Amino acid sequence: MIMQEAREQIVEYGKKMSAAGLSVGTSGNISIYDKETGYMAISPSGLGYFDTTPEDVVVMDLDGNIIDGKRKPSSEHGLHTIFYRNRPEAGAVVHTHSPYCTTLACMGETMKSVHYVIMGTGVEEVPLTPYVTFGTPELAEAVGETLKANPKTRATLLANHGIVVCQANLPKAFGLAVNCEFVAQVQYQCLCAGKMNHISHEEMEKAFERSKTYGQVPDKK
Ligand code: 13P
Ligand code: ZN
Repeated sequence: MIMQEAREQIVEYGKKMSAAGLSVGTSGNISIYDKETGYMAISPSGLGYFDTTPEDVVVMDLDGNIIDGKRKPSSEHGLHTIFYRNRPEAGAVVHTHSPYCTTLACMGETMKSVHYVIMGTGVEEVPLTPYVTFGTPELAEAVGETLKANPKTRATLLANHGIVVCQANLPKAFGLAVNCEFVAQVQYQCLCAGKMNHISHEEMEKAFERSKTYGQVPDKK
């Protein structure tokens, strides 16, 4: 089976995404891109995450051709493709309807720097792509515009729909989706409470700098 490891990881993270409450029912989708072959493994359309097996995951090229798999690919395969076309560093894309990100997207809000973990998106303000019908080339095109207009962002909210993020690999992309949901929840709660302070540009610059040595990476000498 081609892209076996990627297909297994998509099944594993589909379950994690569902269990974490980031995707109700069959909403959301996950992909992994292999730069060497130019192939993308993507979750099948409309199949429960706990019912999906590695064989159900579909392998496609970035022109929308199916390379391997018997299932229909995610209806958002064009959305995933547009990320790989615009973000050469991306190795995985995660799209969710996580409740708080979706709430901001329904309020017509962008995500603000209310908490420093927004830094994982690469930007201080996560843009909002205007509403377009789900699963269409037009939605992918609109997201492409957002990515071009915001060259540093790894994420965009989708108006009245959800959020989509990319990262170097799937564990990181999943972690970013989790962090975005946290920031969105905090922002929403601040808006409800009627008081919201955000982190200044200067302080966010320091957070971006500090993030370079956060976690299990060697400290700079
Ligand atoms: P798929 O089941 O086709 O991946 O679609 C889910 C979704 O979130 C559409 O926007
Ligand atoms: Zn969706």
